Amino acid sequence: MDTPFISFRQVVKRFAALTVVDHLDLDIARGEFIALLGPSGSGKTTLLMMLAGFEQPTGGTIHVDGVRVDGLPPHKRNMGVVFQNYALFPHMSVRDNVAFPLKMRGTPKAEIAKRVARVLDMVKLAAMAERKPAQLSGGQQQRVALARALVFEPQVVLMDEPLGALDKKLREQMQLDIRDLHRRLGLTIVFVTHDQDEALTMSDRIAVFNHGRIEQIGRPREIYELPRTPFVAEFIGETN
Ligand code: ADP
Repeated sequence: MDTPFISFRQVVKRFAALTVVDHLDLDIARGEFIALLGPSGSGKTTLLMMLAGFEQPTGGTIHVDGVRVDGLPPHKRNMGVVFQNYALFPHMSVRDNVAFPLKMRGTPKAEIAKRVARVLDMVKLAAMAERKPAQLSGGQQQRVALARALVFEPQVVLMDEPLGALDKKLREQMQLDIRDLHRRLGLTIVFVTHDQDEALTMSDRIAVFNHGRIEQIGRPREIYELPRTPFVAEFIGETN
């Protein structure tokens, strides 16, 4: 890899006596779609939270585009974040939900209107702009969350099991939609999942987590065909 866009060096996270991320090194290229894959409790979410700035590492460093970001608050990191429980504001329309991050940043009104219209178009929700979240399907709500993460044009989008609450058909549609946005916008996406198939079909590269360490990292095909440890072989071989 040329100069990595995101780099973790010897990152450690402890909660009291529990080591959740254990001297982890990871480089992510600009424009890459990387999946963090592993069983529940292996430290994936914690790593994402440290990248987003919601958790601080106990040790080590995190750089993004040459800037050391550990220690910076979340709003200084310019990253879009999408979680499984979308946390939309129930009393606000779709339009206002999506506009929220721009209002927080003090973006001028006309600029907000333009950007919100553009991003709603992108996720095919232009016709739903005046609805409240409760009047939308699960897949539509998830697309609102995606629009809200993209509206301030972040370079990096962090996703934590974003499709876990959707049924199979919607999940597959959203997988295609996210892949498509990734390609069209040239985003760098860090995508946490415990679903092997999702990681294999969506990502450029997979990091397989086990107890706060990366057990193997490589292209989906490599991970699938050449698992390097019994843990990886077993985890990839499991069906959901
Ligand atoms: P994953 O995303 O792979 O399921 P997590 O990063 O969510 O794993 O969690 C890893 C471990 O860290 C788990 O044992 C979890 O209980 C623990 N953990 C996560 N956040 C906290 C916290 N704020 N306080 C204490 N323990 C935590």
